[in-house]
Amino acid sequence: MRVLVIGGGAREHAICSAVVESGAQLYSFMKNSNPGIKRIAADYFLHDEKDTSKVVEYAVSRKIDMAIIGPEAPEEAGVGNALQESGIKVASPTREAAEIETNKEFMREIMKKYSIPGSVRCEAFSDVAEAMEFVEEMDGVVAIKPIGLTGGKGVRVYGDHFKTLKEAKDYIGEVIEKGIGGQHRVLIEEKLMGEEFTLQAFCDGSTIYPMPAVQDHKRLLPDDRGPNTGGMGSYSHKSGILPFMNSNDYEEAATILQKIVEALRREGREYRGVIYGQFMLTGEGVKVIEINARFGDPEAMNVLPILKTNFVDICMAMVEGNLNRMKIGFERKSTVCKYVVPRGYGTNPVVGAKIEVDEKAIRREGGLLFYASVNEVNRNIYTTTSRSLAMVGIADEIEEAERICERCLKHVRGDVFIRHDIGTEELIKKRITHMEQIRL
Ligand code: AMP
Repeated sequence: MRVLVIGGGAREHAICSAVVESGAQLYSFMKNSNPGIKRIAADYFLHDEKDTSKVVEYAVSRKIDMAIIGPEAPEEAGVGNALQESGIKVASPTREAAEIETNKEFMREIMKKYSIPGSVRCEAFSDVAEAMEFVEEMDGVVAIKPIGLTGGKGVRVYGDHFKTLKEAKDYIGEVIEKGIGGQHRVLIEEKLMGEEFTLQAFCDGSTIYPMPAVQDHKRLLPDDRGPNTGGMGSYSHKSGILPFMNSNDYEEAATILQKIVEALRREGREYRGVIYGQFMLTGEGVKVIEINARFGDPEAMNVLPILKTNFVDICMAMVEGNLNRMKIGFERKSTVCKYVVPRGYGTNPVVGAKIEVDEKAIRREGGLLFYASVNEVNRNIYTTTSRSLAMVGIADEIEEAERICERCLKHVRGDVFIRHDIGTEELIKKRITHMEQIRL
């Protein structure tokens, strides 16, 4: 079977590895020259991933049987729809189903319309004064969000990114005037307090199969300071549930995802592919922060390496609607993933800096390496504006996985930055204590 993976980040490198391990022939369509993907692909094409007709042309010319779309931007551009129209199976949602991610207002409306648990108080506005009335009603304790895609970097939260009503007004004005995220509109949500976690699930239009829960770290700097990023790293526990949550929390999140999929089906937007829920575990239970229409990046790197079932078989079951007949399993292992990013990432990244990676030494230490937004030129690896590579440690306990990850990171050299606190015992203890205080 010939499988095409669209995208050239570390998430896609992990997807590509799972495709190859499943015994399929891998083809890649990506905008950057990812050395890890190039090495394992039967063939690849370097081009803008949102160029729908070029993706279709390439897929047809290589007689692709099934495609998997990694990032959200090509989904929004309708790459999945176009591939399906040319007779290729697609294990990712259509543009219409992916609106659950690409339009935050639509997501909140669906949750309200179908009374799905985990909803938050929120409203969307195209007028600054009206938006400010709502912000004041909420005493300024809000999250301000562009409606469309911003790569996880457009959200500003009271206390974290702004403190005064004046700052809130300025940002609301900026989002509406500049059309940040593609629309001259802004979504205002109540600020949620608690611990965040991710639950990803395979979905075939009606059945979902949830994977182990993961905690990502969006903020750039240690101790959750600095601006939001695409994600600096993540961890998971061998039990499938994170140390600060219990099985009821996990079930609540899975039920929410199931209900969203049912709602989308009733709206005529059948959802096939991986669905991703970003949740806040609060004193009042599990609340939805956002829904994504794909694997998370970094969260894909926590779950795919421990997947025991043939990944391509799962993708086929998602396409064909028979996930309920599959037996899916994950190894009972803990994982820690840390991203290596160019120095200055998030504000003024050093682009084109050389990174030296001793892959043999990393293998010897027992870690997994996934290349992200780098370019390989004449066997040298150079940074871009985005994250460079992800390192994953896998072991029985989180602490040991973290140590493996750190040992491997010593074999990466360059003008880079890493959030070393991710997955450490100290940070995890803080998460547990934080949650205990909230639940009091
Ligand atoms: P998003 O792009 O919607 O995932 O938002 C990025 C980050 O902003 C999330 O991972 C949260 O840390 C934070 N955030 C988003 N919405 C809220 C909210 N309603 N309350 C508190 N924090 C939020």
